[in-house]
Amino acid sequence: MDYHALADLCFPQITASPQEIEKKYPPRPLPEGAKVTRIAPSPTGFMHLGNLFGAIADERLAHQSGGVFYLRIEDTDQKRAVPGAVETILRVFSDYGLPFDEGAGIEEEKGDYGPYRQRRRAEIYQTFAKWLVEQGKAYPCFCTEEELAQLRQQQEANKENFGYYGKYAVHRDMPFEAVKEKITKGEPFVLRFRSPGDPQNRVKFTDLVKGNMEFPENDQDVVLLKSDGIPTYHFAHVVDDHLMGTTHVVRGEEWLATLPIHLQLFQAMGWKPPKYIHTAQLMKLDGGNKRKLSKRKDPELALDYYKEQGYCVEAVKEYLMTLLNSNFEDWRKANPQSPLEDFPFNTKKMGVSGALFDIDKLCDVSKNVISRMDAQQVYELLAQWAKEFDPPFYDLLARDPDYTKRILSIGRGGKKPRKDIALWSGAKEYLNFFFDELFTPEYDWPEKIQPDDIEKILSRYQDLYDPADNAEQWFDKVKNLSEALGYTADMKAYKKDPSAFKGNVSDVSTVLRIAITGRCNSPDLREIMELLGKERSICRLNQALEAIKGGIS
Ligand code: GLU
Repeated sequence: MDYHALADLCFPQITASPQEIEKKYPPRPLPEGAKVTRIAPSPTGFMHLGNLFGAIADERLAHQSGGVFYLRIEDTDQKRAVPGAVETILRVFSDYGLPFDEGAGIEEEKGDYGPYRQRRRAEIYQTFAKWLVEQGKAYPCFCTEEELAQLRQQQEANKENFGYYGKYAVHRDMPFEAVKEKITKGEPFVLRFRSPGDPQNRVKFTDLVKGNMEFPENDQDVVLLKSDGIPTYHFAHVVDDHLMGTTHVVRGEEWLATLPIHLQLFQAMGWKPPKYIHTAQLMKLDGGNKRKLSKRKDPELALDYYKEQGYCVEAVKEYLMTLLNSNFEDWRKANPQSPLEDFPFNTKKMGVSGALFDIDKLCDVSKNVISRMDAQQVYELLAQWAKEFDPPFYDLLARDPDYTKRILSIGRGGKKPRKDIALWSGAKEYLNFFFDELFTPEYDWPEKIQPDDIEKILSRYQDLYDPADNAEQWFDKVKNLSEALGYTADMKAYKKDPSAFKGNVSDVSTVLRIAITGRCNSPDLREIMELLGKERSICRLNQALEAIKGGIS
């Protein structure tokens, strides 16, 4: 067979040589050991946790080593492409603070190793495909859908493996004249790889996370180019990651099954494969069983979910880091204030099997992350979220930013900061009593205090309250009021013999707290009253008094 003639027949429009293309992708001038990584999402419009999970690893590997992190859009499957999806991809990674050094953009792209959208690289793939045909390593296949379906039926009947291989690869050795006739007639064809593999042989391979692995060799003549000249993932991955100089491919472990194809293709091209890191699937516990997070069943798989619910970006990143590196939590304990970027990310600390995603744990991480922020930062992030997802709440927050920031300062700083906020969407519930518009108390008075006493506490305290009091003076007044009503301020004595008293000082302050905030747990009451101001505080005491007098709870 004259493979050169076959190649010209298949690709008359391709005149460039592989060498000419290679020249446009010289080795990058990077320091020794620098890693080049990429994320390569398909523009389906759906960005999920797995995308972010891998991207955090990619970004850290690249930037920790002085390397390059780039974005490639894998848009070869037009059926799945959705308008606006690239914008979504860019927005999500920008929201999560994962900066690309190179890659696809909207108007323009950045970097010298593009184009970074696969559909714009058709000629490049075709040049390398032609080169494979010239070497007898690839060939056109004219099988129709029906013929392939028939093959499959035959294989099913014979209980053989499915696919296009061995004796089933019917167009593998089609005579040149027959190919010529079909192409001249304009019959569509796909280009298939002539696999040299034999499943009796094993391929050995070392994954940076999973370690040494072995697979049967691939013997499928996989499709390299579809009939429109656009490559499959297999071929595009090999060509792009070679030309773009990717040193480390981080991708989901669902790609392990087709890795033998990729290794075979690298070998056929005479190229060195990158190092691979196949990341564990994200799992969740469902009725006691571990299962993969599913797009259909689990809204928390979608990254938009976190945005809408108001999970703070830093917290999501930080939580994913706990799943990515087993020593991250210890590092965080030892370095509570350090930025995430200071953590020495290491592939050796990555989990081999399914990572269990636990949304409650994410909330705990989030509380910690937010508790470390200052009031200004919390204000900005909360307001940004509310502006998009709860505009009326935003209006309240932004009406007097200083007031809101003073609220957010309560319990912040110091060794043991309060951890009240986990989600921005939960902040309203926590902050509602600071805004009259949101203050709709349901007084749930402690049962052990008689309504009579509640009335007395609420009315007498009005005369005692002085905003100028410091914390000690404030509390002394509550203590004195307690004693006067038969509620002891001596907690030791109370513990020893509770029956000797009607109650203690904390019962009295609970009554005040409920009146002022509508709940029995809140940050420091004196600080709250100071922020609300005397007039509003007294007004709330009266409001509660009216309610109890009227028997309203
Ligand atoms: N486009 C592939 C995907 O979205 C990327 C896999 C890879 O990173 O190589 O799953």
